[in-house]
Amino acid sequence: HEDKVWLKHYPKEIPHTIPYEDNTLHDYLKQAASKYASTSALHFLGKELTYEELYNQAKQFANQLQSLGIQKGDRVAIMLANCPQSVISYYGTLMIGAIVVQTNPLYVERELEHQLVDSGAKVIICLDLVFPRVQAVRSKTSLEHVIVTSIKDYLPFPKNLLYPLVQKKKMGIKVEVVYDDKTLAFKNFLNQGSTKEVNVEVDPTVDLALLQYTGGTTGPAKGVMLTHANLVINTSQCMAWMYKMRPGNERMLAALPFFHVYGMTVIMNFSIMGGLTTVILPKFEVKDVLKTIEKQKVTLFPGAPTMYVALINDPDIQEYDLSSIETCLSGAAPLPLEVQQKFEKLSGGKLVEGYGLTETSPVAISNLIWGERKTGSIGLPWPDTDAAIISAETGEKADFGEVGEIAIRGPQVMKGYWNRPEETAKVFKDDWFLTGDMGYMDEEGYFYIVDRKKDMIIAGGFNIYPREIEEVLYEHDAIQEAVIIGAPDEYRGETVKAFIVLKQGKSVTEEELDQYCRKHLAAFKVPKVYEFREELPKTLVGKILRRVLVEEENKKHEAK
Ligand code: AMP
Repeated sequence: HEDKVWLKHYPKEIPHTIPYEDNTLHDYLKQAASKYASTSALHFLGKELTYEELYNQAKQFANQLQSLGIQKGDRVAIMLANCPQSVISYYGTLMIGAIVVQTNPLYVERELEHQLVDSGAKVIICLDLVFPRVQAVRSKTSLEHVIVTSIKDYLPFPKNLLYPLVQKKKMGIKVEVVYDDKTLAFKNFLNQGSTKEVNVEVDPTVDLALLQYTGGTTGPAKGVMLTHANLVINTSQCMAWMYKMRPGNERMLAALPFFHVYGMTVIMNFSIMGGLTTVILPKFEVKDVLKTIEKQKVTLFPGAPTMYVALINDPDIQEYDLSSIETCLSGAAPLPLEVQQKFEKLSGGKLVEGYGLTETSPVAISNLIWGERKTGSIGLPWPDTDAAIISAETGEKADFGEVGEIAIRGPQVMKGYWNRPEETAKVFKDDWFLTGDMGYMDEEGYFYIVDRKKDMIIAGGFNIYPREIEEVLYEHDAIQEAVIIGAPDEYRGETVKAFIVLKQGKSVTEEELDQYCRKHLAAFKVPKVYEFREELPKTLVGKILRRVLVEEENKKHEAK
């Protein structure tokens, strides 16, 4: 598709190519601190931090890291829920040319150890609540220092806040941190730092900003190497796409975690580049989100589909004033059409779906916010981005409408996987990055996702894409969430199994669902087995963990 047919749909405000100014990520914090010094950069549960304060604290953190002997290229792990400390540590680390390793605070010891060993991190910044896990694996890693913080460092501890970790506190499980010269308290550490400028040469197109771990379904999690340029460019592309955004004058809700590439680029880096106020929530709670939007007059709210699903199903949603909302972006998983329409109606804002992966910083393709959106499409490739469909049969570019693997080429594509040249080689074909997602492109250059390559079910010789069945189920009035997996089956290889979460106060029988599915789907796609659940396993961005369900099914099968 050398001609990039999609470009003709761009509104005139969106450039086809964006000049890259050779900046680092932290250059934008410096710029914002001079341009928007007294604007609130972060709002955290009632407390504000201006751009000037944020910049100074990031410099303090950077100088202190240097005093620990941390140098350019060293890895610094950040294991924090969204809070000011996560932004300060992130920019402080980048300023000295060190590499941020984002660590999910929900990781269990095994996952944490793998990531720390694989990345060779020398320092970790973590919450006191996860400290016991860090302590348990510490001796097996190359960690030299552990910097411990508490939400209390910025605020009185808020109610029902941090993940299941808080439950520990409630149950009286004490988290004891003994501080010494290797285990440091964040607040003191920061306060002792100088605010002098840090001068470390960073080459944005060569030097890594981040190791962002991904995968783990087909082996251990891999560190995606993203440079400053990858991330700066993706943020600039996002800025170009959202051309009506008013720099210095918007309030963006951070309900997605910063340790996930989507929250990091589209919320944190974007806000800093545009001089916006980020309204931080440490955890997604429906009522907190609704209250915060109303009270903080949030204008932008990037989220994941399950977040919007939860919001529209809240019985009280109409009691909140959501009229400040202008633009919401959905990514990370498919957005059911019904959810999009209902959310737009209830909020009065736009909800626009985009697509990407950790390996693409993350956004590669997105619907237009102000322009033609086609039902079911993930939209058009971004400026400077090329996308193609690779046919499974020929290995060449597929015809319009033909399903194949989506491939991406562009300045936001990663350098490769950390210390894994073989894995890297597998996902690059010439200079195309192979996403592992199956989809097609129509004649006008709009892209559609059919499914993950590895999620495809083969039942009785038929290729079945779970997403198509899930779409149908989501349209059913009683269903809040649905996941389709391929369960092992003696005769058919796999059989279609549905996991269903019902809406509050609704009920439906298997027979009714069976009839309903038969009406809307070819017989071979109709689920053979249903399982009703109260909730489904999810990641912190609300992506349903299909893998966990598949593993459960496989175990059950093996036990038989
Ligand atoms: P991650 O690297 O964890 O962000 O996961 C990337 C994967 O999320 C992609 O390969 C897709 O399978 C999925 N994904 C992201 N955005 C979408 C979307 N809009 N629709 C469907 N799947 C998506």
